[in-house]
Amino acid sequence: MTSSRNIVVIGGGPAGVFAAIEAKRRDPQASVTLISEEPCEPYERPPLSKAVLLGKAAAADAPIAGPKGTAGHGVELVLDTRVSAIDRAAGEVITASGRRFPYTALVVATGSVVRQIPALPLGAPRVHYLRTEAHAVALARELEAARHLAVIGGGLIGLEVAASAAELGVKVTVIEIAPRILARVCDEYTSARVHDTHRRRGVDIRLNTALTGAQTAPDGRLALTTGDNDTVVADVVVVGAGAIPDDRLAAAAGLRADNGIVVDAHCATSDPGIFAAGDVVRFPGPHGLVRQEDWRDAQDQGAVAGRNAAGANDEYRSVPSFWSEQFDLYIQGVGSPPAKPDRRVRRPGAGAGPSAAQVSFELAGPHIAYAIGINAQRDIAMVRRLIERRIAVDPATLADPTKPLADLLKAKQAS
Ligand SMILES: Cc1cc2nc3c(=O)[nH]c(=O)nc-3n(C[C@H](O)[C@H](O)[C@H](O)COP(=O)(O)OP(=O)(O)OC[C@H]3O[C@@H](n4cnc5c(N)ncnc54)[C@H](O)[C@@H]3O)c2cc1C
Repeated sequence: MTSSRNIVVIGGGPAGVFAAIEAKRRDPQASVTLISEEPCEPYERPPLSKAVLLGKAAAADAPIAGPKGTAGHGVELVLDTRVSAIDRAAGEVITASGRRFPYTALVVATGSVVRQIPALPLGAPRVHYLRTEAHAVALARELEAARHLAVIGGGLIGLEVAASAAELGVKVTVIEIAPRILARVCDEYTSARVHDTHRRRGVDIRLNTALTGAQTAPDGRLALTTGDNDTVVADVVVVGAGAIPDDRLAAAAGLRADNGIVVDAHCATSDPGIFAAGDVVRFPGPHGLVRQEDWRDAQDQGAVAGRNAAGANDEYRSVPSFWSEQFDLYIQGVGSPPAKPDRRVRRPGAGAGPSAAQVSFELAGPHIAYAIGINAQRDIAMVRRLIERRIAVDPATLADPTKPLADLLKAKQAS
């Protein structure tokens, strides 16, 4: 029997690709079309600030859909095509060139766009933002000849770029307005450790420092002025000032959107025939509606949205998580940081010196709410399971590296 489902997915990031693949898997007879404004087979973004900048890989080496590409999953991929409107009454999406794609169910996975700083607009000479392969290729080319890079923002992307550039032998200055780096995702101790690694590798991180202006110096380089009346002259500037959800299309179509498309636990929008997933959504978390900007949430949520567009009724229940690579530090966060943790616990791990393993925990009552680890992949995998299963933990066990976290799981299973 031929399915009458005609599923359209907008956006070629992990949320859109996994939505399309899972929709097709759930209903093999359905017609599934993925529309992406980018010109190439969808690729992973995480390598852009790492292996791609270091010249060790190209974006094409990491296709999201795997080696067979999107077509290998029976999905029709429409590239280089921007959707400019959703006509909900007609059940069609309309592209910038006026082409119409009818849908019986739609998934919006338009991701996020970079937050621009007015003094350093996207496209200005020597100014870079990092979101796409094209951005990474342009930045890598300019770094080849650069002696000094200035990075605005000590968040995850800014610091990954800083680490990659330092490894390429470029002098790096990071300008951060907050009193510490990674304040959004790290406790003070972990921030300080990451900061220390950057310092040892020659990256100059200036905290409590605001960018107040940018001028072109007589030699063509960029002169950045800061609130402490200093000037940083750089060949290249990268702005890592965060990202904002690209919910314009959905909002224009009348879907409920407020700092992201608002979805329920099934990834359904305010229109029951339209689902949304990934960086662009706000979804129900343990403490209200949340946005996540990480690869795993985008992928897992996209999969749920795609299956539901194909007739399933799945809920998105994943525990949020992210990772970041900076020099020899593999940083991972898992869970949702509470506004005010009841207790903090630190667990030292294997190894010694600057790359020693560690995990910092934030507890809410007897449960782990959030943990951030450095070079502690095995412990973090265990923590994910403790959070998923809402297992009450003994803080003394968490703090004792001789006691495996697996024992906490086993104790629960035995009880
Ligand atoms: C440089 C970089 C490094 C990162 N590193 C990590 C990491 O180490 N770990 C981690 O967990 N996360 C990382 N992330 C974050 C992660 O990649 C994102 O959270 C993830 O890509 C979000 O997926 P998404 O599908 O929601 O959106 P996106 O990946 O943003 O994809 C959205 C797609 O939709 C397209 N689109 C938008 N509007 C339209 C339209 N109207 N018509 C057609 N197409 C449209 C966009 O062009 C884009 O291709 C990184 C991100 C970047 C930029």
